Amino acid sequence: MIAPINKRALLARMVGQRTINPFMRRCSSWSGLLVLNYHRVGDPNGTLFDWELWSASEESFDAQMSYLAQNYDIVGPDDLEEIRRGQRGRHVMITFDDGYRDNYELAFPILKQHHTTATFFLTTGYLDHPSLAWWDEIAWMVRTSDRTGIDQAPCLSSEMTFDEPGRCRAIHQLLSIYKQLPHDETEQFLDSLADAAGTGRAPANLARDQWMTWEMAREMHCEGMSLGGHTVSHPVLARHEPARQEQEISQCKQRIEDQIGASISVFAYPVGSRTAFDRQTQSLLSKHGFEAAFSFYGGYNAWDDWSPYDLRRVPIEQATTLAEFRALLSTPQVFAR
Ligand SMILES: [Zn+2]
Repeated sequence: MIAPINKRALLARMVGQRTINPFMRRCSSWSGLLVLNYHRVGDPNGTLFDWELWSASEESFDAQMSYLAQNYDIVGPDDLEEIRRGQRGRHVMITFDDGYRDNYELAFPILKQHHTTATFFLTTGYLDHPSLAWWDEIAWMVRTSDRTGIDQAPCLSSEMTFDEPGRCRAIHQLLSIYKQLPHDETEQFLDSLADAAGTGRAPANLARDQWMTWEMAREMHCEGMSLGGHTVSHPVLARHEPARQEQEISQCKQRIEDQIGASISVFAYPVGSRTAFDRQTQSLLSKHGFEAAFSFYGGYNAWDDWSPYDLRRVPIEQATTLAEFRALLSTPQVFAR
């Protein structure tokens, strides 16, 4: 069988070739802000959690930061207003979501080594009371289940077979279902899945070393990293009444500011799709002193398309090669999707 051609990888390789340069030169005259998003750094192999959360190995992350440091203007939250007013140049922002401990243990030393800065959006409840996030708990249930599938999975129209060896497709499918659920059905979904998989719910001690501590967050902040809000409990905000949204936004901000002794001005929407937040969310962010908020459905921010409470971000994934990374940076009009 002939392997399918990965058009994006092919195009990324072509960006570096001389024959295509005149075309690419025209294409690559972008100006604005490109925001990269990471979740975890390191090696997911052998772990029981959601492998899709790993954005890069240490080696890839190091190579990416080295390239960025040499070629781009890396900015943080405090620069946003000035660069928006200036409307010149190409700026790159590096962001991390959720507050995983590997951000501190693996990414932070690499960032320092390259004299780069990044912004870490923290889910404060995970730092205060470590527990597995729903995506990691679903992955844990599927990976530790001694069953070959589930007959009557909640919200599934047909039975589901666990694809070996990593069971990745089944996990991916269940995560997609979870993201569509109304909030008041999510706990019930996890309980039914725990029954169907025969694992029960994940024990709390699994999350002991999963999240950074406040001490780690303070150290990162003192050494030039920026922090931002990502709610208290990581709900999809648009599925909640304004009062609950406001609680998640204001308590998260207060908690981070109390812990670091400084104010924060930026926020990232949990899940970050176009439907994960609404106008109400945006006005509550403004009310509570957030000056910018980041979504997560691809794209970059050109000057004439700059929306402070919907700044677009593009994910970096484990499979992203350095050629693709460079192509993304040089031509986000094509690759930042
Ligand atoms: Zn998140």
